[in-house]
Amino acid sequence: MPTLLLRDAKILVTQDETRRRIPDGGLFVRNGVIEQVGPTSELPETADRILDGRDMVVLPGLVNTHHHLYQTLTRALPATQDATLFAWLQALYPVWGELTDEAIYVSALIGLAELLLSGCTTTTDHLYLFPNDSTLDAEVRAATELGIRFHPTRGSMSLGQSRGGLPPDRVVQDEETILSDCERVIHRYHHPERYAMLRVGLAPCSPFSVTPTLMRRSAELARRHVGVTLHTHVAETLDEEQFCIEKFGCRPIAYMEDLGWVGPDVWYAHVVHANGAEIRRLAETGTGVAHCPTSNMRLGSGIAPVQAMRAQGVRVGLAVDGSASNDSSHLLAEARQALLLQRVLGGAHAISVAETLDLATLGGAAVLGRDDIGALVPGQAADFIALDLNQLGYAGAAVHDPVGALLLCAPASVAWSVINGRIVVEGGQIPGLDMPALIARHNAIARQMAGGN
Ligand SMILES: [Zn+2]
Repeated sequence: MPTLLLRDAKILVTQDETRRRIPDGGLFVRNGVIEQVGPTSELPETADRILDGRDMVVLPGLVNTHHHLYQTLTRALPATQDATLFAWLQALYPVWGELTDEAIYVSALIGLAELLLSGCTTTTDHLYLFPNDSTLDAEVRAATELGIRFHPTRGSMSLGQSRGGLPPDRVVQDEETILSDCERVIHRYHHPERYAMLRVGLAPCSPFSVTPTLMRRSAELARRHVGVTLHTHVAETLDEEQFCIEKFGCRPIAYMEDLGWVGPDVWYAHVVHANGAEIRRLAETGTGVAHCPTSNMRLGSGIAPVQAMRAQGVRVGLAVDGSASNDSSHLLAEARQALLLQRVLGGAHAISVAETLDLATLGGAAVLGRDDIGALVPGQAADFIALDLNQLGYAGAAVHDPVGALLLCAPASVAWSVINGRIVVEGGQIPGLDMPALIARHNAIARQMAGGN
């Protein structure tokens, strides 16, 4: 069984129950699982592979709880730059209608590489349109090649314009096609066991693009399989709230509850517009939330009541959201945005660096229903990142507080990332990935989809 030793880290952030931080710390990994954590002097002296942690801060890998990887192809499109959500979607649907399996694979490599380099070790993705020959399989292949822990969700849209929905009919699918493909990907890729690298969720897109029947049938299908989760966009904008009140006679969260879409196996993206009673229902039902601060700012959607939700015991994680409303997949940058935005809402004491780190690690793990990631303690999966404190942006900060530096200074890239005991970022690079060639291939597809050559 292969072993890995990380030693001499300037500081090791465990995120254990007492939030212990260990100076001159390290950890010992066997077969992808953390066996020991502590001061370097108390760890074994040898291993199959030894990482030198001098000048490094080491922490659990960050968890991303909402994304649309394919949207890396449509970042910063001029027609969408100043749009609100519905106008943004209407400008993008026709471009996304040009997606192919190749486009999904290449964009997933780009988005996942960006996530890896920014400290993410576990991510979900929400792929909800399947034009041409597109499949979920393409992004699973990309994630498997890069070695990131992956929770793909098989998304869907069934309510086209001709039936009162927002998307054009040509990008929606019929319910039987959707449900049979959901069943197929569950059987092919879902692994409920501990330390699994792949788990599947089902994710009808939003109240304005999916029928109530499909919501109900998706929930029934997911709940016939152990550990298959449910995910959708809820309470993102006031337009959506208005849509729900007019069409269903209630606000979005009440609509979800009516459909059976609450519980510990469910998490929503956004929840910007929730009142006190709705937050209490999320807590009572165990329903989780993916907080997407940059996307909410970019689209002018509002400020999610993250601290109010956390105070009530709602599971809240952090998310970069789709790359076309961010327009980035940098998860450490997103943590900084979350901290800053909660302070716009509630003042300088609204959220601390430590609470923001909780959101990005343990919070995300809880949202994805995982008890084997999010902290560096024996028995957890060996998912950790290391950042070099001896770099320009941390000068004058890391000497005072290395962890504070990570969240308050300009977001940096990781030096190393280890996932399931395997080194996936080394010296700030992803081994074996030809980045210039990948970017060129991605840009060619992006140009073609937007109508260029
Ligand atoms: Zn989204």
